[in-house]
Amino acid sequence: MKILVVGSGGREHALAWKLAQSERIQMVYVAPGNGGTARDARLENVAITDPAELADFVVREHIGLTVVGPEAPLAAGIVNLFRSRGLKIFGPTKEAAQLESSKDFAKAFMQRHGIPTAKYQSFSDAAQAHAYVDANGAPIVIKADGLAAGKGVVVAMSLEEAHQAIDHMLSDNRFGDAGARIVIEEFLAGEEASFIVMVDGKNVLALATSQDHKRLKDADQGPNTGGMGAYSPAPIVTPSMHARVMREIINPTIQGMAKDGIQYTGFLYAGLMIDAQGTPRTLEFNCRMGDPETQPIMARLKSDFVNVIEHACNGTLDAVELEWDRRTAVGVVMAAEGYPDNPRKGDVIDGIPAETPECVTFHAGTSIVDGKLVTNGGRVLCVVGLGDNVKMAQKQAYDAVDQIHFNGAQFRRDIGWRGVK
Ligand code: ATP
Repeated sequence: MKILVVGSGGREHALAWKLAQSERIQMVYVAPGNGGTARDARLENVAITDPAELADFVVREHIGLTVVGPEAPLAAGIVNLFRSRGLKIFGPTKEAAQLESSKDFAKAFMQRHGIPTAKYQSFSDAAQAHAYVDANGAPIVIKADGLAAGKGVVVAMSLEEAHQAIDHMLSDNRFGDAGARIVIEEFLAGEEASFIVMVDGKNVLALATSQDHKRLKDADQGPNTGGMGAYSPAPIVTPSMHARVMREIINPTIQGMAKDGIQYTGFLYAGLMIDAQGTPRTLEFNCRMGDPETQPIMARLKSDFVNVIEHACNGTLDAVELEWDRRTAVGVVMAAEGYPDNPRKGDVIDGIPAETPECVTFHAGTSIVDGKLVTNGGRVLCVVGLGDNVKMAQKQAYDAVDQIHFNGAQFRRDIGWRGVK
């Protein structure tokens, strides 16, 4: 069987790597892929990004199944297009993807269906937004409504920051259409966790839990990024917390979508904030897997992922029980100099160790130029180590990170610190 994975990041490398382990797989195409997916056995890059051209490619190559990594093609309706052509694809439709592509939609949805989240109001008028902030005080959170590649959220610790964020989004139009409407919400304190499930339209299958590290620097300092590392499982999601999140957040979300006339299929990612009393609230939904959470999660998955995705496409996820490696996986992102604002490209990458049962390196912003592996984006690699506890997994990951070299590499030394604490 042949499979297509859409995307080019570390998430897609990890998905393709896992799918290619299935004995049923002849080839996993990755569109457009990266320097890692170009080199791995049974993976092949395809230089196509247009959804209609991808559908033509799928027909031509007799590809049995497509899995979509990133949000942009989902929000643009790649699932609707493939289904209209009778092609099997795992992901949410454009309508369902609004849970991620419009924060205003997601907030109104959560309010309507009683799903715990921060109090909010949305605005397109700057004067009204400023007045709301003055009335509510700081800290307060300002979010662009649309997709902004993780850059459209400002956690304002002061009124000044909040007013400035409103001006950037509504008056200066920095995010274009994505920021023409904003959501202003209550600041929630606590510990974050990533809760990712697969949904086949009616059945829900939870993946292993994980925790991302959004800030650039150790001890959660520095600017927000797309994610500097993740580990799985996340100890904060105890079995009783897991049951509570399924009961109060995940199941009502799938049922709420159905009540609103939208059948949800695909990965669903709830970004949680768990407060000091142990109450989980939803910070955001993503309609795809997380990056970098996917990398440690896939490193721990033992089940045949092709079978799992097929069940998901056929509406039979209730027949699946996932098997996980009991070890902890810690994924350390190595980013380019200048990331997140202005990452430099073209630095030669050396020293990536060969994959072992304890360590695997997934590529993100890499490409092969004149036979050499070079940096080609902000987040370059995600090195995943596995061990019997967080510390042992960290050691595996960082031993490999220390062998890898490219000029200006930035990475955190403390991925998984909450799990050690
Ligand atoms: P991404 O898709 O990259 O995760 P995003 O742009 O969809 O990001 P959110 O996940 O909604 O944005 O927010 C980004 C981060 O901002 C969160 O991970 C969290 O750290 C912080 N944040 C968001 N909302 C709140 C809130 N209400 N209170 C406190 N922190 C928040």
